Amino acid sequence: MSKLPNIGTSIFTVMSKMATEHGAINLSQGFPNFPVDSLLTDIVTQLAKENVHQYLPMAGYPPLLSNIALLVKKSYRRIILPEIEILITAGATQAIFTTIQALVETDDEVIILDPSYDCYEAPVLLCNATPVRVSLNDDYTPNWDTIAKACSANTKMIIINNPHNPTGKILTQSDFEALESILKKYPKIIVLSDEVYEYITFEEKHISAHTRINLLNRCVMVSSFGKSFHVTGWKVGYLVAPEHLMNEIKKVHQFLVFSVNSLCQVAISEYLDVVSIEGIGILYQEKRDHFRELLKTSRFELLPCEGTYFQVASYAAISNENDVDFCKRLITEYGVAAIPISSFYENGKDLHLIRFCFAKDNATLEEAAKRLCKI
Ligand code: PMP
Ligand code: GLN
Repeated sequence: MSKLPNIGTSIFTVMSKMATEHGAINLSQGFPNFPVDSLLTDIVTQLAKENVHQYLPMAGYPPLLSNIALLVKKSYRRIILPEIEILITAGATQAIFTTIQALVETDDEVIILDPSYDCYEAPVLLCNATPVRVSLNDDYTPNWDTIAKACSANTKMIIINNPHNPTGKILTQSDFEALESILKKYPKIIVLSDEVYEYITFEEKHISAHTRINLLNRCVMVSSFGKSFHVTGWKVGYLVAPEHLMNEIKKVHQFLVFSVNSLCQVAISEYLDVVSIEGIGILYQEKRDHFRELLKTSRFELLPCEGTYFQVASYAAISNENDVDFCKRLITEYGVAAIPISSFYENGKDLHLIRFCFAKDNATLEEAAKRLCKI
C-alpha cells in the first residue's frame, strides 16, 4: 500500500547521485557551485556566537518579515503587512506543500501546467485531490484556451511558475490578462505563483503576481532565498498571502515545522540590510551568455532562455536515444550530468531535450562545454 504509488525518487536526486558516482561535472540539479558572498558567511560566523539558536516566532523572525515587506515594496511597489501576510518557510518546497495542504480539499482539481517542476503534484495527491495537467504550447507559453477549458466548478487552484523551470520562459502582461479573465468566471480559484527565480530574468523584466491588483486577494506568492542568495542548502523561503488564506496556511505550517532555522533567518535578514538582491539577474545573464557562447560549436541546439539558471538544449542532431538514456550516457561517457526534460512531463514526453544548470563558476562551465563540444 502506497499513498503515492506513481511517485518515484526525484530526478534531481537520481542525476546528482549518478554524477557523484561517476565524478561527472554536475550541471543537473540546480544549485550554484561558486562561493557564497563572504559578507553573508561573515554574518553567519558572527551570529553563531550569539544568542540566535532558539525557536523564533512561528511566522518568522520579525526583522526578516519587515525586510521582505521592504523588498516587495522596492521591487513591485506593493505594500504588504509583514506580520500578517508573510510566512517564512523551509524553502519554497515547504511553502508550496503547506499552501496546497491548507487550501485544497478532497476531490478539488488543481491545474498544473505540463511540463512543470516536480514538487506540485504529490501534495495535491496527498489531499485526495486531482492534478489536472494542461500542456503548454510548443514554445512553452501557456495555452489559455486550454487552461480555460480545463477549469470547472471543481477547480480550486491554478499553479503558475514564473520564470519557468525548466524552460526559462517568463509570463507576459497578456498572459496575466488571460489568467485574470479566467479567474473572473471562477471566483473560487486560487493562484499559487511559484516565483523562486523572480530576480533571475534577462532581457525582459519579470512580471510578478505582486503587481497584479486583480490577483492579490486570491494569490499565494512563493519565493526562495536559496535561489536569490545562492544558498539552496539553507532551505529558507517565504510565501506572501492575503490574511484569509494565510490563516489557513499557518494552521498547517505550525504542525509541519512550527518555525524555520533561526540562524539562517537572522543571517538573511542582516544581509538584506546591506545588499541589493536585484544584481543577480546580471550575474546569471553573463553566465547564460558565456555558456551559450561556449556551446556554439557543439551539436546541441539551444532553446531560448529568458530567466532561471537553466538552459534547455536539443540533442536531436546527436542521438535518437530517449532523453533519460542520453543523460545517463552523457555522465558515463562524457562526464557531464544534465536533467532529461521528459521528467517534467506528466507522461514522460520525450522531445530529445535536456536541461543544463549554468549556475556554476566559469571554469566549470568551460570544462563542461569542452566535453559537450566533443560529442
Ligand atoms: N520551485 C521551483 C520552480 C524550483 O526550481 C525549486 C527548486 N529549486 C523550488 C520550487 C524549491 O525551492 P527550495 O529549494 O527553496 O525549496
Ligand atoms: N529546483 C532544483 C532543480 O530544478 C532541484 C531542487 C531539488 O533537488 N529538490 O534542479
